Amino acid sequence: MKKLDINTIRQDFPILKREIYNKPLVYLDNAATTQKPWSVIKKIEEAYTNINANIHRGVHFLSQEATNAHEAARKTVQQFINARSSNEIIFTRGTTEAINLVASSFCRAYCKPGDEIIVSAMEHHSNIVPWQLQEEISGIKLKVIPFDENGDLKLNELEKLISSKTKLISVTHISNVLGTINPIKKIIETAHAHNIPVLIDAAQSVQHIPIDVQQLDCDFLVFSSHKIYGPTGIGVLYGKENLLDKLPPYQGGGEMIASVTFEKTTYNELPFKFEAGTPDYVGSTALAEALRYVTALGLDNIKAYEDELLHYTMEQLMQIEGMRIFGTSSNKSSVVSFSVKDIHHYDMGMLLDRLGIAIRTGHHCAQPLMKALGVEGTARASLAFYNTKEEIDVLKAGIERVVKMF
Ligand code: PMP
Repeated sequence: MKKLDINTIRQDFPILKREIYNKPLVYLDNAATTQKPWSVIKKIEEAYTNINANIHRGVHFLSQEATNAHEAARKTVQQFINARSSNEIIFTRGTTEAINLVASSFCRAYCKPGDEIIVSAMEHHSNIVPWQLQEEISGIKLKVIPFDENGDLKLNELEKLISSKTKLISVTHISNVLGTINPIKKIIETAHAHNIPVLIDAAQSVQHIPIDVQQLDCDFLVFSSHKIYGPTGIGVLYGKENLLDKLPPYQGGGEMIASVTFEKTTYNELPFKFEAGTPDYVGSTALAEALRYVTALGLDNIKAYEDELLHYTMEQLMQIEGMRIFGTSSNKSSVVSFSVKDIHHYDMGMLLDRLGIAIRTGHHCAQPLMKALGVEGTARASLAFYNTKEEIDVLKAGIERVVKMF
């Protein structure tokens, strides 16, 4: 384990030098999106400056160079999550599109009316609504694993929810509201004992915890580049090759075909079958750069530092009178949702913003979770490895100032 030098690391992120209302930016909205290091920003510039050309099928030099960069990026992602083959890495627009892809293709291939998909009560809307669309299209039914007062999933309920009609379990690794790190290995083992595949939403985990898809044995895993210090507009669907092979395409268009006639069209092999249209080759190369950046810091080192910072944040915020923290699992990642007395989360966010502190407020795209908590919304501070204890002190003082105003 190596201790991270946070002050040096902060120099890599130009935006952290910004001032907001003449105050140093305190960026605590990392669960929504992360800031980008110079290396990622430069990679985007370099791609457009030196190698821009449409990829695949191009015979000219630049096209081949751009193709090589895109396919090298796929290999980098494969290595980052330890997939068996780069055929198992599909580039999508992000977590949301990846889940929509699986929901649409999987239900088309395997579900009949009355079949069931299990999700949890702490899912982001992007792991609820795609399945609800399939309730309308394929006639499937959603079942929901509840959570307890600490924000831990009630795993004993999972066994009760599984039936002969269960076709897939789709759960988040880490809740974007509660911060709970779900016991996904256990969920996967339980599901596999019933021959049920599992999709893991790693949107909030891939940037905080080392992930090994072979060791987890998950069937699908999805994440977004922008939450792991990469660019917006690109993300990843990992799927076991034998499963992806059997799924029908999600979108039709260029690149995903083997041949097209008006009589019969055949589809390309993996991974291209699921990448219709011009791929985001600039995004993929910049994502690969972000993964290299994170790998160089070391996810174990990142986790150790973020755990320490989370501990400090919880400790400091709990000292504020009237503080309520949502999500107190013993297995928690660096997301702290809170409310103070009856101060509206929106007022809290607006007033903290005036102090240069960026947090998120509202339902966090998890309205069923809000309903289960009995609140309309929360304030949420979410941490990254470039945050410091001094910034948490600024947050605490800011909240105390807001409280005094009310
Ligand atoms: N799942 C979780 C747990 C999330 O936190 C988010 C983003 N807030 C998403 C899915 C959706 O990610 P994206 O908007 O990048 O597709």
